[in-house]
Amino acid sequence: MRILLVEDDVGIAQPMTDGLRRLGYDVTWVKTGREAIDAEPHDLVLLDLGLPDFDGEMVTARIRETSQVPIIVVTARSDEIDRVALLDLGADDYLVKPFGFRELTARIRAVMRRASNHSSPTGEDIVVGRLSIEDRTRTVTFDGVEISLTPKEYDLLSYLASDPGAVLSRDEILRSVWDEHWWGSTKTLDVHIASLRRKFGDPDLILTVRGVGYQFAEPTL
Ligand code: CA
Repeated sequence: MRILLVEDDVGIAQPMTDGLRRLGYDVTWVKTGREAIDAEPHDLVLLDLGLPDFDGEMVTARIRETSQVPIIVVTARSDEIDRVALLDLGADDYLVKPFGFRELTARIRAVMRRASNHSSPTGEDIVVGRLSIEDRTRTVTFDGVEISLTPKEYDLLSYLASDPGAVLSRDEILRSVWDEHWWGSTKTLDVHIASLRRKFGDPDLILTVRGVGYQFAEPTL
């Protein structure tokens, strides 16, 4: 498995590279956001937020324009808003420095497991009212117009839309769409819901069920 490590701090990158290579990962180490954006495709990206040229948010967004590769952001910041924003941009997970090597490899395995779960198509397309989801190509159209979603937004939408009208609890959604070991903020779910509503331009597509969770409403014809 090929990992792209984007980290300008040699003191952090060198032991990470050595450790991951010992475990059999094929590691490419670059020190700038520019090199990360230009790099050939990898199976996973480990991205430091504090790079000398571009910030991590921008690098994440640029990678997401062309690739669904899992991205784990490595951050020294502890501000929750930054982390939620990163997940919203399409990062799959984050690690806060300082972290242990064991934690790093656990996160890598978890992200790869989720990626392989979600990328194996069920072949089941969903058509609800004006919305259609083609799972094989992960294409979403609304009123015939293709809507561009991040991998997590897609997973969340297809989970909700697979059972229109059902009230789904927050726990149920987080467990199914993220991971049973999801340790992040539950605010992440709200951020993704808000983003879906914005992208579809229809606040009634996904209804908030106060104190419980969310409900996918059949789009009005
Ligand atoms: Ca740095």
